[in-house]
Amino acid sequence: MIKEVLLDNLIVIFMIIAVIIGIGLGFGLRDVWEPSEKRKIFYLEFPGQLLLSMLKLLILPLIVSSIITALATMDNKSSGRIGLGAIVYYLTTTLIAVILGIILVVSIQPGFSSDELDRAGSSRDSNPLDSLLDLIRNCFPPNIIEACFSKLETQYTETTEEVKKIITNVYFTVVDETTQSVKIVSQSGMNILGLVVFSVFFGSTINHVGEKAKPLRDLFEAINDVIMVLVRLVIWFSPIGIMFLIAAKFVAMESPEKTFTQLGLYFGTVIAGLFIHGAIILPLIYFVATRKNPFVFLYRMLRAIITAWGTASSSATLPITMDCLINKNGVNPLVAKFVAPIGATINMDGTALYEAVAAIFIAQANGITLGIADIIIVSLTSTAAAIGAAGVPQAGLVTMLIVLTAVGLPTKDVTLILAIDWLLDRFRTAINVIGDSIGAGILSHVFRNYFNNLTEVQINETLDL
Ligand code: ASP
Repeated sequence: MIKEVLLDNLIVIFMIIAVIIGIGLGFGLRDVWEPSEKRKIFYLEFPGQLLLSMLKLLILPLIVSSIITALATMDNKSSGRIGLGAIVYYLTTTLIAVILGIILVVSIQPGFSSDELDRAGSSRDSNPLDSLLDLIRNCFPPNIIEACFSKLETQYTETTEEVKKIITNVYFTVVDETTQSVKIVSQSGMNILGLVVFSVFFGSTINHVGEKAKPLRDLFEAINDVIMVLVRLVIWFSPIGIMFLIAAKFVAMESPEKTFTQLGLYFGTVIAGLFIHGAIILPLIYFVATRKNPFVFLYRMLRAIITAWGTASSSATLPITMDCLINKNGVNPLVAKFVAPIGATINMDGTALYEAVAAIFIAQANGITLGIADIIIVSLTSTAAAIGAAGVPQAGLVTMLIVLTAVGLPTKDVTLILAIDWLLDRFRTAINVIGDSIGAGILSHVFRNYFNNLTEVQINETLDL
């Protein structure tokens, strides 16, 4: 027991050291390497890419087996209640994040003070209705096998060259020549939203069918157990991977002096919002709901938080998030298996806050003060854009096109914030993971009576004891 605690703390220490060395190495190599020496950066990033591949490899079996196991084990009434609780928590905290972002950006006004920004001029493209339809379409993949390896599709019509460039930075794209639209395929290589929806229905139906479907439940439970053991192995490699991922990013970043003089205030506004949300508001909500110390909870999530910062992907972090929730924080395994994968897919407080701040910043940089009606539209579309964003690096930048279009701002102005987005992405991903974890912690506490009411045999069966 003591040995385990020591080992766990050791990984956290290794991770913190890895982040520090990674940043130092990145800055150090900037002076030695020419920016044109891309190949070297590619080699430097190699161990990091290995870590990302390992994590991504685990996501698919983990998400599917977790959700199915949880829903096949709990009765449908209880899972319905927990699901409803999760949705209420996700929507409330996401809206709080958006409102906080709006308050900060409207009071600090970073856009009005950045005269040196190179403005892109105006044009309108993409259609919020298309984006909403995309979101719904992705929930129902026509082919479940295909959903495992491709196609989170989004269609932007009349997309300008600049926007296309940004989209291709983040996603693989296919241009449809006849309609001149761009189809976007997620880099995570799968339609996670579609898989989540399918798994929810599949798991609940196993429960509904009962005895006859029990072998299926056992199969997914076994897959889940095996994957969780593999996660523990990958965790040992994560400090090395994170160190090289970070070093490569810092070597490759654009001139920090120039970027920070132009975008420093905007950067500061987003960071202040993320900090208030992640270190004050969410912990407060956790404390009110559970009466437990939120910072102990967060400390035990540290491995997941650092991984989120290092990978900028909440989906890739999911295996580690689940491990911390179940094995470190004692969150009920069924609750964690059910809500953590859904949270990683749709609950993104950090992204929502950033979308609102960035959209209003772009309005300010264009000399526009948005009225109350536009601000309400920004809050609603930012929430929708965060739900629609995949848990992959910089997905939020692309879904921000929805927010900009909704209030008639030029979408190509996302180029204004591009230089700094890779860094902000890391912080917002960390907040996304904190939001998901605290949600799982609260739901596990709130629904503890359900688990207390089970007979001992059922508990043993339920908790895999
Ligand atoms: N990178 C974020 C995540 O994975 C999404 C985003 O805001 O771009 O949670």
